[in-house]
Amino acid sequence: MNRRRLLQSLLASAAWLPALDLFASQRLLDARALRSAEGLRLVLELSGPVRYHTFTLSAPERLILDLEGTRLVHDLRGLPLAGSPVRAIRAGLLPDGGTRLVLDLFEPVNLQSNVLAPGDGQGHRLLLDLRRQLPQAGSRPRIGPAPGGERDVLVVVDAGHGGKDPGALGPRGEREKDVALLIAQNLARRIDRQKGFRAKLVRNLDVFIPLRQRVEVARRCNADLFVSVHADAAPRRTASGASVFALSEHGATSTLAHWMADRENAADLIGATGNLPLKGKDAQVAGVLLDMSINSTIASSLDLGHQVLRSLGGVTELHQQRVDQAGFAVLKSPDIPSILVETGFISNDRDCRRLHDPRHQQQLAEAIFDGLHGWFRERPPADSLLARLQAQGNA
Ligand SMILES: [Zn+2]
Repeated sequence: MNRRRLLQSLLASAAWLPALDLFASQRLLDARALRSAEGLRLVLELSGPVRYHTFTLSAPERLILDLEGTRLVHDLRGLPLAGSPVRAIRAGLLPDGGTRLVLDLFEPVNLQSNVLAPGDGQGHRLLLDLRRQLPQAGSRPRIGPAPGGERDVLVVVDAGHGGKDPGALGPRGEREKDVALLIAQNLARRIDRQKGFRAKLVRNLDVFIPLRQRVEVARRCNADLFVSVHADAAPRRTASGASVFALSEHGATSTLAHWMADRENAADLIGATGNLPLKGKDAQVAGVLLDMSINSTIASSLDLGHQVLRSLGGVTELHQQRVDQAGFAVLKSPDIPSILVETGFISNDRDCRRLHDPRHQQQLAEAIFDGLHGWFRERPPADSLLARLQAQGNA
């Protein structure tokens, strides 16, 4: 079943579905995002006056905007959010024909909303001003740096295979799990050396860890990124070079199905606590939101993958010039950008020799780091030390 079909069947089981269009009398026509020193202003252009509600959820911080009887006709994914308190914007349908926007936040914000009537050649607009919460005067004095902008960017580094699973084998019985661990350790050390960054290795030993558990490690520690390090093999001994993978469409379908089956975790993912219980018909709304989250995570992973691949091209031959997509289980985090790097072909004589060369291992680690560092510099998490250093011109 492809994922569109899956979504359709999820939606079709909803009794309220035929009512959607009857109740949706307004359209969200366009949206603009304007960054300022205090935060972000969102301007939503609407076809007419709308009623709306907002509320916030914490852990993780989110701002929810429900637009009554309004249908979304504008794709919100391209909005420039870098450097703002908003990490991502997702949208989904509400049972009564409304639209729910979920703004994933890096930090709590103060919201001020205003409805503007048509004028000056502009139509109906809803203005949302999201301002970072500054420390209150008279509140507990703080020692040291100002709050916010202090956490490290956390990268989970996964060395493929391990223990009873040797992975691919080289011409003389070399094992993928060994080179993967050495390169992963190099990468983790490199990440830790960078101010504002921190690495966590899924395994630092020759042990077997089930695939799902590797994804769990990243989720449990709220990782910003997941990188799995491997070495390829092919029956054709001449196959060589590095490749980078992100999750495929098909993989995303099964991810959606998995998380929908796992209601408790899915609720946690889309912030369903209380306000959007994943029971009965609300499960369909949750499915839409979750699907959007997975889509935007894949887009981020592809983007990141391109940067890492380009950077790897400077130290090794590339097997593929483009980021590949596959349904690898370790890439199935619905909300953490994840890539899998095949550092070379262990089945190829020349690649295998290089993969065992400590200097080459270090170069590969350096290249992977350069790629992800560049990616984060373009979009530092707003509550990170990296964001603060960059704002001060020190990163
Ligand atoms: Zn592998």
